[in-house]
Amino acid sequence: MLNSLKKAFGGSDDTRPSAGKKGDISREKSAEFYEKAKNYFPGGVNSPVRAFKSVYGTPLFIERGDGCFLWDADGNQFIDFCCSWGPLILGHNHPKIREKVTKTLAKGLSFGAPTALENELAELILKNNRYIEKIRFVSSGTEAVMSAIRLARGYTGRDKIIKFEGCYHGHSDALLVKAGSGLVTFGETSSAGVPKAFADETIVIPLNDKTALETAFANFKEQIAAVIIEGIPSNNGLLIQESAYIQSLRDITKANGSLLIFDEVITGFRLGFEGAAAHYDVQPDIITYGKIIGGGMPVGAYGASTELMRLISPDGGVYQAGTLSGNPVAMAAGIAQLTELRTSNFYKNLNTKTEEFADAIQRYAKAKNYRVNVLNVGSIFWFAFTDKAHIRAASDIDPASMEYYKTFHRELLNRGIYLGPSGYEVGFVSAAHSKIELEKAKRAIFESLDEVFRHKPAV
Ligand SMILES: *Cc1c(COP(=O)(O)O)cnc(C)c1O
Repeated sequence: MLNSLKKAFGGSDDTRPSAGKKGDISREKSAEFYEKAKNYFPGGVNSPVRAFKSVYGTPLFIERGDGCFLWDADGNQFIDFCCSWGPLILGHNHPKIREKVTKTLAKGLSFGAPTALENELAELILKNNRYIEKIRFVSSGTEAVMSAIRLARGYTGRDKIIKFEGCYHGHSDALLVKAGSGLVTFGETSSAGVPKAFADETIVIPLNDKTALETAFANFKEQIAAVIIEGIPSNNGLLIQESAYIQSLRDITKANGSLLIFDEVITGFRLGFEGAAAHYDVQPDIITYGKIIGGGMPVGAYGASTELMRLISPDGGVYQAGTLSGNPVAMAAGIAQLTELRTSNFYKNLNTKTEEFADAIQRYAKAKNYRVNVLNVGSIFWFAFTDKAHIRAASDIDPASMEYYKTFHRELLNRGIYLGPSGYEVGFVSAAHSKIELEKAKRAIFESLDEVFRHKPAV
């Protein structure tokens, strides 16, 4: 999602060299819908990365999804590895979620008053998560992060936050900030409409760089409310951090009276039920959730210790509210999904399956001497068109490598595989991806890699 920011403003026009041997799928209906949509929405979409600005063609309009499959308006069928950008860890149209949601919506859609469903989802989460004691439900990841930042500022009485280049935290003003020219500087806004004064409160530093971190704390002593990092940065490629580095974030924040926020909107309930906190065994001060927590419905949440959460209104002075927060239908979807995630070996099976999938592709690419690195953690994977072994910071990614992805994406669509329409986006495997479909997907990926490297030189 991070790079959709750049792409939304400077996207490529569609110059389509002819497809590989396979030929292009029919996209007539989708193209028709897209033409219409352009009359209604900026860029024809309601979220920028959907606009296919960094791949060939125009957006596919989706008709329905079931299990690991998607069908578009032209009747093309795809094995889906985008999974609505992460929420659908059980795949599309899961019967248990559908049943629970259907039952709940028959009683009304929203009351603006508490329901027992909120208790049920909170209990399911808090009883099985050692890292938070209290939680507040909101309606998106953006809202969760925005509220977590406010809580950190309210608690510390400080204004500045440190974020990392290559991490996306939603589109709130404080976080639409990119690195300035120096190593440790105030950020520059990455969107028009964000006041400079806001960007001045956000310090942007590179990932995996202890010196930059220490310099930031030395330069802004006693001004830093919080350091925020994605559990595993997955919005600008997959930038897997070393445990020791994450521990250093914990140590330096503690030593300076600042809070550590894990933005687990992707990693929460994805790496395991307790997300990245358990993955590293590091206790953050505040954790944000989204995506999976709502089972495909719009839900976000932030959680922390009882001591910290006491500051949130109406108990405390940090104001945060929402007309549709804790919406019963959304809670029902979350309960049904998270209940499935608690079944034994859920994550072991999912993660093993994904690892085997990624390893097989990596072996194929290696045997063919293709310059592609298949990164994987849990059920997240990412194709990096590079021969670098470690990709830990945004600067480790060569923007020119995205040309490879562009061809790859088209070849995959032509072979019935749906991945996010940008090379910076990660893929997700869901519990609904069976061995058979993963085998099919592998073959399609092998063929697509062959096409990608047919014209481009191997190393
Ligand atoms: C998706 C995402 C967000 C924003 O969530 P929305 O529901 O799109 O507002 C925030 N942080 C991270 C890490 C995300 O991946």
